[in-house]
Amino acid sequence: MLKVTDLAAYYGGSRVLHGVDLVASEGRITTILGANGAGKTTLLRAISGLVRATGSIQVGGIEVLGQAASRMAALGIAHVPDNRGTFSGLSVEENLRLGAYRNNDDIRPDMETVLGYFPRLRERFRQQSGTLSGGEQQMLAIGRALMLRPRLLLLDEPSFGLAPVIIGEIFEIIRRLNTEQKVTVLLVEQNARLALEIADHAYLMETGRSVKDGPAAMLGADDSIRRSYLGH
Ligand code: ATP
Repeated sequence: MLKVTDLAAYYGGSRVLHGVDLVASEGRITTILGANGAGKTTLLRAISGLVRATGSIQVGGIEVLGQAASRMAALGIAHVPDNRGTFSGLSVEENLRLGAYRNNDDIRPDMETVLGYFPRLRERFRQQSGTLSGGEQQMLAIGRALMLRPRLLLLDEPSFGLAPVIIGEIFEIIRRLNTEQKVTVLLVEQNARLALEIADHAYLMETGRSVKDGPAAMLGADDSIRRSYLGH
């Protein structure tokens, strides 16, 4: 589904990724672990066409490096950024409708699917999204991305700032979206324990490089990862 090779990324003149290699296999959940500042968010931004990058990004075998973010969305890549990216002055319904901006046909079935996964969004359908709880805002951000009918969902720290019970709920929905809707997921997550539980495959990033990867269970058993990221 996604193959990133020797990727470098830049903010102005400063280079923050230094040759990242990564594959997100179709139908799987792939996670990227790493300390603060390792470059995880930048990697997702580079894949979405939001920062300048060199190297190669292939989606379904087609080179897409340098394409505009709108083109990446057209290819079925939906990005849920770390700041969630919803419009706080708009209602839940309006945010979801915006997510479907690329679809000219009837979006009611998509809306029903999203509201089926997130019943709380149905309860708060007309509420201004800025007044939602943090967990509900994260649900809205994922729901809005789903309205794009994505093949690949890029999720940046969906657990950030949320209570454990809500995190559990959101991760369960991510798992269901992957199995039921066949959405391929690339998940950046600080909470390594959670990420390794849900993912099939995991990458470890350090200072702008992918330094290790393997089946999630294998990385979870790795001594240095256990010490540095799992705290035991
Ligand atoms: P975190 O988990 O803390 O979000 P991260 O692994 O996602 O960390 P990035 O946010 O990708 O890391 O940051 C990687 C490096 O790029 C950091 O050194 C950061 O200071 C730098 N950086 C991030 N955004 C910008 C920006 N807009 N302009 C300049 N440098 C940036």
